Amino acid sequence: LFVEDDLTEGARVAPTPDAQNYLLNVLRLRQGEAILLFNGRDGEWRARIDMVSKRAAALRVEQRLREQTAPGYVHYAFAPLKQARLDYMVQKATEMGAARLTPVLTKRTQMRRVSAHRLRANAIEAAEQCGLLTIPETMEPLELDRYLAALEPERVLVFCDEDAPLADALAALRGKQAELGAPPPLAVLIGPEGGFDETERAMILARSNVLRLSLGPRILRADTAAVAALALVQATLGD
Ligand code: SAM
Repeated sequence: LFVEDDLTEGARVAPTPDAQNYLLNVLRLRQGEAILLFNGRDGEWRARIDMVSKRAAALRVEQRLREQTAPGYVHYAFAPLKQARLDYMVQKATEMGAARLTPVLTKRTQMRRVSAHRLRANAIEAAEQCGLLTIPETMEPLELDRYLAALEPERVLVFCDEDAPLADALAALRGKQAELGAPPPLAVLIGPEGGFDETERAMILARSNVLRLSLGPRILRADTAAVAALALVQATLGD
């Protein structure tokens, strides 16, 4: 179960009303029964139900079971899609270890009003389901030019480009990894359903540290491309 509280030995955590309902009425936990907690910062802890009344429980934090894992090296930037598919993209990116999720607004973006709160809620739900201990940073939407300007120079921009030659961008990534002795910091960028327009493509390709990644000869839907790109990159670089 995800909690916002700091987790230390002996701490007492008051679950939110939703978490109370989940613990007492869905999991039907009773006094003294154990639950695993994480907050995205302090690793995974075992806690016990400590009933405070017939219908309310606190959680007594007992012991750390897993150390906090470091955030991954992949950031993921995407033109937001309509809600259900956006939820899907966020959950899959979280499962695949994206350390930061940034909605990028482009000329053909379908959804311009994106709630960072909803992104975070989907990322937390995905982490809970997969037993992940890190929650990706969920950023406010940025226009493409501002997103590109804010990228750290050393971060390799992996531009998922359906017009890219089937040249092996992954070999270039492996080369960077060999050069650095570790996976290079990456930002995987996926465009909107309507694609990037010419000026946007030029802006992206003008960036010094950019790799054009082809995901094969077919045009994939953006949410398919997201899963394919993140899986490819992490299968290539590991970690
Ligand atoms: N320009 C496409 C078209 O003509 O239909 C529409 C864009 S595609 C639906 C959405 C995004 O997914 C693209 O901007 C790109 O980032 C990514 N994408 C889709 N297929 C891809 C492929 N084969 N290789 C690399 N990226 C791809």
